[in-house]
Amino acid sequence: MINNLKKNSKPLSRRAFNTLLGSMGLAAVSSTKSYPKFDAIPERVVVIGGGFGGATAAIYLKKMDPNIEVILIEKNLLYATCPFSNTVISGMNKFSYILKSFNYFEKLNIKVIHDLAIEIDSNNKKITLNSGRVISFVCCIVSPGIDFDYESIIGNSTNIQNRIPHAWRAGFQTQLLRKQLVAMPNGGTFIISPPPNPFRCPPGPAERISLIADYFKKNKPKSKIIVLDPKDKFGKQSLFKEGWAKLYPNMIEYRNSAEFGKVREVVADKMVLVTDIDEVKGDVINLIPGQKAGRIAFNSGLVNQSGWCPVNHATFESKLEKDVYVIGDASISSPMPKSGVSAYSQAKVCAAAIVSSLNGEIVKNPKFINYCYSLVSPDYGISVVKVYEFNGEKIKLIDGAGGKSPPNQTNKFRRLEAQYAEGWYKTITKEIWG
Ligand code: FAD
Repeated sequence: MINNLKKNSKPLSRRAFNTLLGSMGLAAVSSTKSYPKFDAIPERVVVIGGGFGGATAAIYLKKMDPNIEVILIEKNLLYATCPFSNTVISGMNKFSYILKSFNYFEKLNIKVIHDLAIEIDSNNKKITLNSGRVISFVCCIVSPGIDFDYESIIGNSTNIQNRIPHAWRAGFQTQLLRKQLVAMPNGGTFIISPPPNPFRCPPGPAERISLIADYFKKNKPKSKIIVLDPKDKFGKQSLFKEGWAKLYPNMIEYRNSAEFGKVREVVADKMVLVTDIDEVKGDVINLIPGQKAGRIAFNSGLVNQSGWCPVNHATFESKLEKDVYVIGDASISSPMPKSGVSAYSQAKVCAAAIVSSLNGEIVKNPKFINYCYSLVSPDYGISVVKVYEFNGEKIKLIDGAGGKSPPNQTNKFRRLEAQYAEGWYKTITKEIWG
């Protein structure tokens, strides 16, 4: 297996490989064996999931070593990004704006198979696909994103998704919530109940609330938003609340866990959420369930009792299955949040770790970054940046290395951040999906 290098391909020199790592913000490798070892590179790394984590990993594996055969398995023909899906729900952008194709990967010599991966057998190094096809691998990276935990609320199930959408995986659900808001009468009530921790995109619910408030303000000004948040605080809370007071006074009624407890039951027929203290009725309800790792991680023995995947933070190799790496939302990567940028940052580190290990090298002390823009309105952006490093044991926040939008800024300042948000989205999606 390990001597199957393509005959005409030229291996990277050590210097070129380290230069490439350096240009990506990764620490140079240290050798545990004599160099070069490129004739020892195995042929095939399979990546499951073509979202922020998986697609980035596939690209960077190929960039770091063109000799590796990279196969990307993605169940959908098109990928709808969750980032900027709130702008589709509010009508700011069309659905097509967030749709990405996989054509670009062919140009990079990455083979894309559109199929559902059912199970990874790490002992025999094989992945079984829904079609019955079996794909072998030397290393496998899994970035399957999230699944939902419907069971914790009575009456909540996948059967009511068409009535009460979560819209927390972009696609049909995004369009459905948009349609429901358009059909809602002026003066109607929109209820949103964000999920408990940990979940994908901590500032995402507040951005959704903001952009729906913007839609109501412009189109249905008598309408009201009730937020039933089962937590006591949320990401960028003070900045969002400052924006809400300024842009949407009296429209958003935000209740935290101290004020209503939890949502205990969904009565879909009556469009009612039953909480610990009352019953709340809405015209449109967006209940976002608690979350866990995507199903393939459960099928393949990659999750622990938390419902997420424990990984070595220097490499993202699973702590439960050898030669299988888990990145992105499905991994336990705290204190990094579950975000597209975290997944993108982890993907680069993971790709570098695999290419290094195949060559008898070790990547030392990887660094990570998460930067996150949110829109409080189409012209009002806020952001936060955090930098992390592997401290020899786990990922740790580097104090003082990040920053957050300051409070009480001018409209011009907020408008600029909204423009940066769009610039960020266009840049990162262009880099990943071409
Ligand atoms: P995903 O991007 O979900 O990718 C998983 C992929 O794997 C999917 O394409 C899926 O089809 C595929 N897949 C799953 N299982 C299988 C299988 N068995 N076989 C084949 N394919 C499979 N993050 C940011 O950084 N910035 C933002 O502004 C931002 N905004 C957001 C707004 C909202 C409303 C939401 C919900 C999220 C937002 N996020 C944002 C978070 C971001 O979307 C996720 O953190 C990110 O997508 C995680 O990447 P991932 O690779 O782990 O999973």
